Amino acid sequence: MTAVSDAGQDDILKVSGLKVHFPLFKGVLVRRQAGSVRAVDGVSFTVRRGETLGLVGESGCGKSTTGLAILRMTPITEGKVEFDGKDISSYTNSMMRTVRRRIQMVYQDPYGSLNPRMKVGDIIGEPLIVHGVDTERDVYRARIQELLHLVGLRPDMAERYPHEFSGGQRQRISIARAVSLNPALLICDEPVSALDVSIQAQVVNLFQELQERLGLSYLFIAHDLAVVRHVSHRIAVMYLGRIVEIAPRKDLYQAPLHPYTQGLLAAVPIPSPSAEALRPQQTILGEPPSVVNPPSGCRFHPRCPMAMKVCSEIDPELREIESGRSTACHLHDPAIVGMDRDPLSPLGRPSSAATSSARRGQPAIA
Ligand code: SF4
Repeated sequence: MTAVSDAGQDDILKVSGLKVHFPLFKGVLVRRQAGSVRAVDGVSFTVRRGETLGLVGESGCGKSTTGLAILRMTPITEGKVEFDGKDISSYTNSMMRTVRRRIQMVYQDPYGSLNPRMKVGDIIGEPLIVHGVDTERDVYRARIQELLHLVGLRPDMAERYPHEFSGGQRQRISIARAVSLNPALLICDEPVSALDVSIQAQVVNLFQELQERLGLSYLFIAHDLAVVRHVSHRIAVMYLGRIVEIAPRKDLYQAPLHPYTQGLLAAVPIPSPSAEALRPQQTILGEPPSVVNPPSGCRFHPRCPMAMKVCSEIDPELREIESGRSTACHLHDPAIVGMDRDPLSPLGRPSSAATSSARRGQPAIA
């Protein structure tokens, strides 16, 4: 895979305090609201022009809902989404139609996201027809051929059906469709998770090539830190509806600050079996708690090997620790230094190696 270069500095997307809550109802005859699912609970981040921001977390942490809320494919409960300098949070459906030309989505499943009854050329060209762009017959055909070539497929493949293609080729078709309207931002929701590892690298390379050629920005959603490592300039880590750490790629992999990020990194396999055998085992304990009743204080405290008494009482804010690096953890908050730092870990004390490395702000793995 090719290395990512430095990204531009101005923001194409700015998300501030985004909340997406789904009401829960009970009762058959008289339905009453009984709490809510806080899928996204106060998320803020930016994506710069020409940049890839990786958004990572376990299944159910709210990362896909964040992507859908940006496109208003799910209602926003609170917060602001600014795209290209304009607040689109309160746009009507017809106003969002224009925005959706410039923000496109690539989905995880290249099998389910393509209509099996349509020819590949028609699938790729459908957004052009819907938005009335390049619809004159010869221009339309030329554009389809150009898009197929752009994603590494042959022009004659326009006449075939999706079932005639491999998983990697189908994802290339999805990408061709997504870039057909010359968008500025792609929201890629687990776009390589369903592919074989060898094919993943090819599709990741395609994303990088298209970024360079078309100046695209990506919000790249994944559950796997191994995938976003090769494609992201910066990475935001989500846990239970919140962002717990944002950092440039190199900093995050070399010295993750948040214990959750450290646990995710510890789960990434090292290609060398000898190095894999030597590294300390520090996986994340237990299952994620309910988003209906998240734990008090720090939401990660029931699973955190570094948890202190204060962690169950005070909710840590996402704070900038150094330029470009932010984390939501009391271990990195000077205001907590004077408070009670007694260990609190219902799942057991951490190993001394893991504890000392975390307190130095260093990763527990090589
Ligand atoms: Fe762990 Fe406490 Fe930091 Fe939360 S605030 S991640 S419980 S040390």
